[in-house]
Amino acid sequence: MSELSELFADFSDPLRLGIADLGWSEPTPVQERVIPRMREGTDLIVQAQTGSGKTGAFGLPIILNFDPEIAACQSLIMTPTRELANQVAGEIAALSKHTGLRCLAVYGGVGYQHQIDGIEAGAHVIVGTPGRMLDHLGAGRLKVDSLRTLILDEADELLSLGFWPDMREISKYLPKQRQSCLFSATMPERVQSLARVFLSDPSFVSLSEDQLAPQEIQHFFVVTTAQEKEANLARILEYEEPESAIIFCNTKDDVRFVTSYLQRRGFDADQISGDLSQAAREQAMGRIKAGQLRFLVATDVAARGIDISDLTHVIGYSAPQSPEVYVHRTGRTGRAGKAGVAISLVSGLDIGNFRQLQQVNKIEITEREVPSEEVIIERLQDQLSVKVEQEIREIPQRERAWKIDRFLPIVDSLANNDEGRKQLAAICASFLKEHRPDTRVDSVEAAPKDRPDERAPSRSGSKRRNDRTNRGGGGRRRRRPR
Ligand code: AMP
Repeated sequence: MSELSELFADFSDPLRLGIADLGWSEPTPVQERVIPRMREGTDLIVQAQTGSGKTGAFGLPIILNFDPEIAACQSLIMTPTRELANQVAGEIAALSKHTGLRCLAVYGGVGYQHQIDGIEAGAHVIVGTPGRMLDHLGAGRLKVDSLRTLILDEADELLSLGFWPDMREISKYLPKQRQSCLFSATMPERVQSLARVFLSDPSFVSLSEDQLAPQEIQHFFVVTTAQEKEANLARILEYEEPESAIIFCNTKDDVRFVTSYLQRRGFDADQISGDLSQAAREQAMGRIKAGQLRFLVATDVAARGIDISDLTHVIGYSAPQSPEVYVHRTGRTGRAGKAGVAISLVSGLDIGNFRQLQQVNKIEITEREVPSEEVIIERLQDQLSVKVEQEIREIPQRERAWKIDRFLPIVDSLANNDEGRKQLAAICASFLKEHRPDTRVDSVEAAPKDRPDERAPSRSGSKRRNDRTNRGGGGRRRRRPR
């Protein structure tokens, strides 16, 4: 075995063998910080990117803590996609190869039998997407009485894909006595709400030494050409799924242009500019506050003096004309101790000024890529499957043949030719438009005492949708962009 770092050297022989098999000799910085804390048993919120070695950071303590004598699930790891589930399960299986730990990946879109066999064989660690986990829990196949550790991996993505209703249901099955750790690349307010639901008295771990709590506002910028600016804005909104945002432009012409561009693409957007009377501006504000409007496009002047707080996002479509303007703009989010996200679109010409603005304001603004069309399509597909699986789960098993399977010949015939495929595409588009992912996190009621073996289909998902529609008295109806 090669020379191992102090942290790894303290592990059992079989685990050190697994680490050596993977060729790891030093822990990554996130492992260095997380592993000792997890071993102490503390609940943790960890801000870490993919590629930082976060799987090892939670995987190694899980392996150290598992009891081979208990042939039941001791750790649940929720991941947003099947790819990530496989990747995480693969890494944990490789690390624990010599320890006797059994690790299983469970996710939707594939048959049940292999997963049932794995659960029945006494998998110690189950990694998977929340939807399928809930299926197994609901059917009484998966028991979590022996659960020691819960991991929410890529928590921001779990929420963006619409897994909250499933996670909320899962939380009702979990034993209170457990360690819970949440990993996320970004810490928007909804992720922090998720932490409040699942974690108890958590510590925050980030890679920068001096960061002791999630930042109130996370600042990002994307570099874009002037020609692609509006298309890139639409991509960012589509990918980012803000609950509510103000989009700042420097001129009234831009406000009009951006508003009509977004509206044509099906975004729920409206504008305020200095042309409007104070009453009309207040009215637009009232709508965004009541949750009846998602996107407000405005000039800095038009937004001045009007109180809009509680926005989840501030987007800079045009570069701010001074460092002070940037501070004013971004101060519209991250209010009252809640977290917000500020994203600025910066074209080549503006980059110099933008960097200067960072220095003057002494804020760290991280560069991000504009999500590509492929990435967005992948995201839409994931959101579609999450929602469809949620809808299927609501239909009792005995009714599924009648309500779903009889449409299979129709799907086969449509999938057979181009015109039919377009019809299927239209069905997907319209379904997603009607069912925007539930990304907000609300509270969870106490766990019901009795759990039937074959769980009756729960209507909680649709009930909650209605509850939310009524929230704030505004009847928010959120639409997906077309
Ligand atoms: P993750 O952020 O967990 O997706 O990990 C990113 C990559 O880093 C994976 O390929 C890991 O196998 C690898 N990795 C994780 N920890 C270490 C380590 N301590 N030394 C070398 N490679 C590592």
